[in-house]
Amino acid sequence: MLTWPDNALLDDQQRDLALRVLTFARQEIGPLAREADESLRLHHEVFRRMAEFGLYRHVIPEEYGGDGIASAHICLIREMLASVSAHADTAFAMQGLGSYPIVSSGDEPLKQKYLPPIATGQAVAALGMTEPGAGSDVAGITTTARRDGDVYVLNGEKMFISNAGDATQYVVLAKTDPEAGARGISAFVVEAGTPGFEAVGGFELLAAHPIGSLYFRDCRVPADNRLGAEGEGFRIAMRNLDIYRTSVGAAACGMGKAALDEALAYGDQRRAFGQHIADFQAIQFRLADMATSLEAARGSWCTARRRNATGG
Ligand SMILES: Cc1cc2nc3c(=O)[nH]c(=O)nc-3n(C[C@H](O)[C@H](O)[C@H](O)COP(=O)(O)OP(=O)(O)OC[C@H]3O[C@@H](n4cnc5c(N)ncnc54)[C@H](O)[C@@H]3O)c2cc1C
Repeated sequence: MLTWPDNALLDDQQRDLALRVLTFARQEIGPLAREADESLRLHHEVFRRMAEFGLYRHVIPEEYGGDGIASAHICLIREMLASVSAHADTAFAMQGLGSYPIVSSGDEPLKQKYLPPIATGQAVAALGMTEPGAGSDVAGITTTARRDGDVYVLNGEKMFISNAGDATQYVVLAKTDPEAGARGISAFVVEAGTPGFEAVGGFELLAAHPIGSLYFRDCRVPADNRLGAEGEGFRIAMRNLDIYRTSVGAAACGMGKAALDEALAYGDQRRAFGQHIADFQAIQFRLADMATSLEAARGSWCTARRRNATGG
C-alpha cells in the first residue's frame, strides 16, 4: 500500500518534488498557516518563504530565471501546499496565473522585464478578467481600452481579483473593439501605481483567499504593454486555463487530504459510549469512503495531466 503523497502514477522526479514541497510546507508554512488562512490580504511572510524555497521558479521558463513550466509539477506543488495552507496554495497559483499570459503571448522585452522578478518573488502577479457583470462569460466584459497614440486608455472595473492591492503587476483584459465580442478583447500588463489605476484588497470571502477589486479611470497604459495582437485577449485567457485548470483539482485533493487527516485525528480523540468514535463501524465506513473518494480524485488529475503531456 502506498503512503500519501506517493502514488503509482508519479515518476521518481515527481515523487521527490512532492516530498520536498510537503516537508517544506509542513515545517515552514505550517506554523503560519492559521494566521495566513485567516488573512484577507496576501501574507507576506508566507509569500517570502515560498520565494526563498524557489517555488515560483516552477511557473517561469528557464530562459527567464525559472525551472520551466510542467503542469504535473504545478499540480503536485499545489496539492502539497493546499494540504497545509489554502493561502499558500493561492499565493503560488496566482504567480502562475498572473504571469502565464506574458509567457504565452508577451514579446521579448515584456518577458525580460516582467518574468524574472516573478520567479524570484520580487514581483507579485495577478490576473484581472472578472467584472461585476461578467464572470464565466469572459466575452461579456465591458472594461474598455481605447488606443490613443502610443498608449491605451483603460476605463472600467474588475472584481473578485486575487491579490488585488498586493500585486505589483496585473494582466488585465479589456475591450479594444466593444462590438467584436470575444474577438474584441485584448490583454495588457498594468503596473501597480499607474495613474488612474486603483486596486483595493481585503474583500471578505468565506474562503481563505485575498481578493478585491480593480478600478480604471482614464488609466494610460503603454501600447508596448499589450500582450499579443489586438483582439487576442480571449485566446490568451483561455490558454491560461489549459495549464492551470487541472491544478485546481489537485489543490482540492490537498484540501481533501487535510480534511481526512482532521477527521481521523478527531475520531481517535473523541470518546462516546466508552470508546473512541473511530472504533464505531459507522464512522469507519465514512472515513473509508472519504479516503476512497480522495484516492479516486487524485488518480483522475494524475491521469489528466498524463494526457496533457504537451503541457509538460
Ligand atoms: C476565490 C476566488 C478567486 C478568484 N480569483 C479571480 C482572479 O484572480 N481573477 C479573475 O479574473 N477572476 C477571479 N475570480 C472570479 C471567477 O473567475 C468567477 O467567479 C467565475 O468566472 C464565475 O463568475 P461569476 O462569479 O460571475 O459567476 P457567473 O458566471 O455569473 O455564474 C453563476 C452561476 O451560473 C452558472 N453558469 C454560468 N454560465 C453558465 C452556462 N453557460 N451554462 C450553465 N451554467 C452556467 C455558473 O456555473 C454558476 O453556477 C475568482 C473567484 C473566486 C471565488
